[in-house]
Amino acid sequence: MSAKNIILITLDGFRKDKIGLCPSLKSIKENSYYFSEMNTNVPYTFAAHHLIFSGMYPSRNGVDGYYKMFNFKKDEITTLAQLLKENNYYTVSETLDESVLPRQGFDEYNLFDEKTVNLKKRHVELIKRLSKKEKFFAFLHFTDTHLHYVREIVQKYEKSENDDEYYKLKKENNDKYEACTPLADDYIAEIKNALDENGLSENTLLIIISDHGTGLGEKHGEKFYGVFVYENTINIFCIMHIPGKSPRIITKQCSTIDLYSTIAELAEAKIGKKSEIQGESLLHLIENPSAENRVVFVETGGLYGPWPSPEKHNIFCVKMDGKKLIYNDTPQSWEFYDLKNDPNEENNIYEENSKVIANLKKQLLKHLKENNIKTKLINFR
Ligand SMILES: [Zn+2]
Repeated sequence: MSAKNIILITLDGFRKDKIGLCPSLKSIKENSYYFSEMNTNVPYTFAAHHLIFSGMYPSRNGVDGYYKMFNFKKDEITTLAQLLKENNYYTVSETLDESVLPRQGFDEYNLFDEKTVNLKKRHVELIKRLSKKEKFFAFLHFTDTHLHYVREIVQKYEKSENDDEYYKLKKENNDKYEACTPLADDYIAEIKNALDENGLSENTLLIIISDHGTGLGEKHGEKFYGVFVYENTINIFCIMHIPGKSPRIITKQCSTIDLYSTIAELAEAKIGKKSEIQGESLLHLIENPSAENRVVFVETGGLYGPWPSPEKHNIFCVKMDGKKLIYNDTPQSWEFYDLKNDPNEENNIYEENSKVIANLKKQLLKHLKENNIKTKLINFR
């Protein structure tokens, strides 16, 4: 790799369909590898990050429920930060709370108060400081868009009796959300500047993702994210800027479980033989246009919503070739969508006798079994 340093930025809750509103972000996207069909395997903040940093699905890494935020199996897992540290990277994490990602492997694990912090200023200073290091990895959590949107909404809808109103106000919600997007774009512009000013642009790999999307009222029962597994919250994006590489849009389906192996490969860091890393490096998708789509599995268990389940995940889906099968464990119901013809998932066309559905069901059951995920389905086998 021509880059030696690595910066991974999470734009928390940033929707893929809003990149076009952000000139700086759009410009980086257009000059990078852009994974347009990246998915998060678990659409809420801390489970999403534990998955990325462990390269393991939630049931394997321990963080498989909202109340399991501190159950990370740290003694059994070499985190991405640890792997990079072992490969002579100076490692820094910038986030708002210890629950977001595991501390292990970071030389610096810095917390900020999202209510008072100026992230632009803070991270520009950090980049300046890191430019003196031999080689560094920095995880930067950008929380402003998320904070401002949630604050607007939480204040308005904190009483559950006016919940329904939220779903009627899709346009207003969308306008409010869009009003927050310049925060992210200004931040990205500053980071880009800081890389230029500190002579890091030519030797730093910059990866920008979101950890999940944000519902704007599209799906009744989900005010923000984490409740369901519909596209507006799981279909995220990944911008990978590798200096010297020509831009390309990668439309193959993939998911965040693959980021560990991808970043390891880019860093030329060998993953130990005994490691149980579950993803696969995505570099072959870039180099080989005829590569297959990766099968994507997503799971969640919301804190609120129609079937709250903070102790264990209760909603699962499998995505393959533009088709998506969802299993809701609490009511034991199935949904099936043809994403090409119905991208907003409005027509559930599940039927018992479909071969396509049977095949997806088989894949999903295999995934649940391999990962020891307990659902009511197990009883049916
Ligand atoms: Zn988040």
